[in-house]
Amino acid sequence: MKKLTSLLCALALLAGVTAPAKAIQPERVPIRIHDEAAAQYGPETTAEVVNVLFNGKPMELDVPAVSQSLDGVDGRTMVPVRPVAEALGATVDWDGEGRQVKIAAGADRVVLTLGQPTAEVNGETVDLPGRVPAVVARYGDAERTLVPLRFVSEQLHAQVDWDNEAYAALVTAVIEPPDPDAPPRGRLTRLAADDNAQTITLYLSSEPQYRVTDLGDRVAIDLLGVVIGSGEDGSLRPENPVVSRVRYAQHGTDIDPRENYVTRVVLDLARGCTYEDNVTVIGDPNLQAVVISVTPPDTGAALPTLPEDWDPNAFTVVLDAGHGGSADGAAYEGVKEKNITLPVTLRAAELLREKGYNVILTRNEDVYMDLYDRCDVANNVGADIFVSIHANASPTNLEFQGTFTYSYPNSARGEALAGHIQAAVVARTGSVDRGLLTNDYVVLRETAMPAALLEMGFMSCHEELELLVRPEYQEKVSQGVANGVESYLSTLPRKEKTAGGGGGFLLPSGA
Ligand SMILES: [Zn+2]
Repeated sequence: MKKLTSLLCALALLAGVTAPAKAIQPERVPIRIHDEAAAQYGPETTAEVVNVLFNGKPMELDVPAVSQSLDGVDGRTMVPVRPVAEALGATVDWDGEGRQVKIAAGADRVVLTLGQPTAEVNGETVDLPGRVPAVVARYGDAERTLVPLRFVSEQLHAQVDWDNEAYAALVTAVIEPPDPDAPPRGRLTRLAADDNAQTITLYLSSEPQYRVTDLGDRVAIDLLGVVIGSGEDGSLRPENPVVSRVRYAQHGTDIDPRENYVTRVVLDLARGCTYEDNVTVIGDPNLQAVVISVTPPDTGAALPTLPEDWDPNAFTVVLDAGHGGSADGAAYEGVKEKNITLPVTLRAAELLREKGYNVILTRNEDVYMDLYDRCDVANNVGADIFVSIHANASPTNLEFQGTFTYSYPNSARGEALAGHIQAAVVARTGSVDRGLLTNDYVVLRETAMPAALLEMGFMSCHEELELLVRPEYQEKVSQGVANGVESYLSTLPRKEKTAGGGGGFLLPSGA
């Protein structure tokens, strides 16, 4: 849009000249409008570009605002919804299934359905001016939702004027201070980091309305109209390769002049990580939550070394001791999860080697390891199965105890592996059988072979924790894991030596 901006600069110069101003010829651009009824793009049309000035400054738009003159209706300026609504302090949510754009600012809600000539404003249906609906438009490679500029701006309490000489719409934000007595619209009830899924979830008591700001080495998520449930600012250190710390604090009009209450959640990013590359923030109205998920940078590490006695005729098992190093996992009564998972895993590895399997460990000492690197270990050696070993915790129910095994949702082979491990561990330890579960855990999702995650028992239950720290009990868990692995592998056809050399090893150093 460089061209438009320079055009406007030229105009600004002309404006000082007293000669009668001449209306400029609007630029015309090729654009394609999505036909909602036909569910496809219509033919390319030519549209007149409308310049949009926001508080006097030209807006940079990757899809230009255009004068909509389709179906013989003209004079409607259609503009990409997000930049304009956000400039006016609103948040924009896109509901792909309902083909709806949801705009929220303070207590105001505007919902536009693509292709429909009406909008919903604070629950009431109103006709759009000229019954011109919101549409999706494609310009070059960019695809944006266009909405009627004047209608949307005015719902957000902005003033819109038309400058015919500049062929420009002038949007002026009118900021209305909030009623000082207006109560908060929601509470931040809980902030939870799921280390196995590598997500951080902000649970609210209301539908999430939030704004994300990229601050370079930090990301700010502003929860609008929200107070902190506990009444106190705080922080959390998740076991996460991208987000090193989460801090939350109560703000208000200092962050948003329209809001008495804003809870600002700041994510401190690990070195080298950015919002754009490594963080995804999604509002989930059903959960009443904002879910932060991460994509860690590829460290390129984790090529395992070849075991000397690697047998191409034997199955390859990767065992993964949960957590490690700076990541303690659960911690109760001075016991850290990482210090239980490691001895159980090392012993299970020994037992499986005795049974003749190739066994590779993601870690064999107390070191931190990224969940994605753990998966790389198994994927790079072409392992036949992957088993991750953990201990559980239930902070809200200290009586709860027993053993679970997880697999990835809808993975039949993963579920079969989990079933064999669960049965063998419970048979050996005599712990409460909590059965099988599925979850979108990183180590279950990113591994290319059947994978299971064992939760040996609950560290939050005093009675069970006393068992979990005892070497005799750990021996039983290790035997259970080894028995379960053996019993699962016995259901598979025997491994045959192949010309390619078995498990598809990636040999280090360019072999
Ligand atoms: Zn764990």
